[in-house]
Amino acid sequence: SQSQDLPAAFGFLASARPSGGRIPPAAFATRGTHTGVELSLRSQTLGATLVHAPGLPPDSAQARDTDTAVLIAGEIYNRDDLCSVLGPRAGQPGGDAQLLLDLLHRYGPHAFRLVNGRFAAVVSIGRRVLLATDHAGSVPLYVCAGPGEVTASTEAKTLAGHGGPRGFPFADARRVRGLPGVYQVPAGAVMDIGLDSGTAETHRTWAPPLARRIMDEDDAVAAVRTALDRAVGARIAPGGTPLVVLSGGIDSSGVAALAHRAAGSIDSLSMGTDVSDEFVQARAVADHLGTRHREITVPTADLLRQLPYTVWAAESEDPHIIEYLLPLVALYRALDGPARRVLTGYGADIPLAGMHREDRLPNLDTAVAYDMATYDGLNEMSPVLSTLSGHWSTHPYWDRDVLDLLVSLEAGLKRRYGRDKWVLRAAMAELLPEQTVTRPKLGVHEGSGTTSSFSLLLLEEGVPERSVDMAKQQVVRELFDRTVVAGQDPGEVSTAEVVRSVADRLERGAA
Ligand code: ATP
Ligand code: MG
Ligand code: MG
Ligand code: MG
Repeated sequence: SQSQDLPAAFGFLASARPSGGRIPPAAFATRGTHTGVELSLRSQTLGATLVHAPGLPPDSAQARDTDTAVLIAGEIYNRDDLCSVLGPRAGQPGGDAQLLLDLLHRYGPHAFRLVNGRFAAVVSIGRRVLLATDHAGSVPLYVCAGPGEVTASTEAKTLAGHGGPRGFPFADARRVRGLPGVYQVPAGAVMDIGLDSGTAETHRTWAPPLARRIMDEDDAVAAVRTALDRAVGARIAPGGTPLVVLSGGIDSSGVAALAHRAAGSIDSLSMGTDVSDEFVQARAVADHLGTRHREITVPTADLLRQLPYTVWAAESEDPHIIEYLLPLVALYRALDGPARRVLTGYGADIPLAGMHREDRLPNLDTAVAYDMATYDGLNEMSPVLSTLSGHWSTHPYWDRDVLDLLVSLEAGLKRRYGRDKWVLRAAMAELLPEQTVTRPKLGVHEGSGTTSSFSLLLLEEGVPERSVDMAKQQVVRELFDRTVVAGQDPGEVSTAEVVRSVADRLERGAA
């Protein structure tokens, strides 16, 4: 049924102590059933609250032996590869946590260098605690630690009550503003924390490629097609019908085409507002593929009211990112019915510089290098954006193998014959209508009118045009302080009121 289609756990709050477990209560943005676990090992106890899909016991999110325990939120995509080095019984029974446990036995903490997935994990081993993120840090992971206790969570807000600097500061991890003592585990890293000392060593398990590869056009196109096809296939559960959030842009249309071939059929869903939509372009793709397609129109006033939910879910303070995510959060919140596995076309523009609207190549690779060096901590891939309404989302363009390939292609394959994302368009050419393949990029924040509607809201409150960007930053900050730091229910935070207070403050500052 629906449940095999979803990972065993969406998130966790975990606490490791030398003895005497603690199952910490947690108020997650993630919606789901809470299950407490307590794993007593030879040298420590790991207690946790797992949050997971209702009706799906989170058994395969945990695994243990006498000295080691593993908890995982999310999922692994290269299970077959991993099993090929571990032997046929690897991961049996129990799934992804057991697979990690088997991998740890073979490789030690370096196990995480082998994993291609969308996950956050905590491992209690001997007197140490390992905290691991996937290459993209796509499932955010936070930690608060001191001598004698390591607490880790997939949502920073759940650590608010555990805070206060207790141990040594972590030099390698980013502090979370407003939550003293709370740090975000870097993307593509394992933090190895001594339970007695509370000090950490951080090991990188992935880094964005810096070198660029020259490839023949045909080879590059074939490589992109193969890598993306594998990534989409790995994200579809056997027998399940995935849902693709579809704009009619090349990124999501490519995913829809490959998913439709892999799964036999898919559902697709488009979001628009009363101001703007991409319904015609999405419909063209849905008709071409023969998907079961649905459109959801969110009135702009409702859209803007979801800003607190977006910040609460993303735990991000970046106003641009929040503008991209707002229409998607509105879409997921409007998606009623059973929990779905959702595939998106999110993130393709980062390695391909899809926003790069000019022909000169030097600037294109500057944009790729910059974006690949600065994505960590933005949380734009966070599953909480959809799990806040019970749905699991996954992003094939940020599959580790796809990303390694796309980043590394020389700029002339990305921008070619006057087209952005040329190599992707060429890879998808046979599967999609010509008009889709040649359609210029349009950002989700543009196609839904989100950026302009948010600007208008501020202008109407008297914010001068030149201060709009600064005001957006302040609104997002204030929403972060309220929903993440202070733990307020986003349903009780009024966007209008926050906008008014920011506008007033700016006016007083200007006077
Ligand atoms: P392009 O970047 O070329 O416009 P795209 O529209 O697929 O292609 P983005 O605009 O970057 O990609 O949007 C990111 C992702 O968000 C999309 O791939 C899609 O999965 C989702 N998305 C964007 N707009 C919508 C929409 N109107 N309805 C449903 N999903 C959307
Ligand atoms: Mg895109
Ligand atoms: Mg994009
Ligand atoms: Mg688009």
